[in-house]
Amino acid sequence: MAEQTFIMIKPDGVQRGLIGEIISRFEKKGFYLKGLKLQNVEKSFAEQHYADLSSKPFFGGLVEYIVSGPVVAMVWEGKSVVATGRKIIGATNPLASEPGTIRGDFAVDIGRNVIHGSDSVENARKEIALWFPEGLAGWTSSQHNWIYE
Ligand code: ADP
Repeated sequence: MAEQTFIMIKPDGVQRGLIGEIISRFEKKGFYLKGLKLQNVEKSFAEQHYADLSSKPFFGGLVEYIVSGPVVAMVWEGKSVVATGRKIIGATNPLASEPGTIRGDFAVDIGRNVIHGSDSVENARKEIALWFPEGLAGWTSSQHNWIYE
């Protein structure tokens, strides 16, 4: 199976009307959307998603931020989509993100950085299982052979 990553537009990205812009960047690159939903998440679910960061001083604030409004959960598929997705998103601190990246173009503060993307193939697998237990859409783009060799 082709590589997949979990991408989440955080509540600030939804509130600021960036859903279409963000989807467009992944779509135009040549990655395929395999799962998509807008939802509010429970505190316990947000804590599970960010469990690796539970000892960080900003953990409480991070969880409050994620539950403060709906998020858009997505699965994107394509060659090297985990690492390339992180490049499209930009560095964690938006002041350090390059212009042209999502955080570089649309964010200022680290605690309001608009978007999440899995940082490894293994974490992508875990996050997709957590967010999409119902499974993903199966389809192949008719443009596939115009994008991939
Ligand atoms: P990334 O989201 O780039 O993978 P991390 O996994 O290190 O980054 O952190 C997860 C999220 O926690 C960040 O995207 C950001 O929203 C928040 N965060 C990280 N560091 C801080 C910080 N020092 N202060 C506030 N929030 C932070």
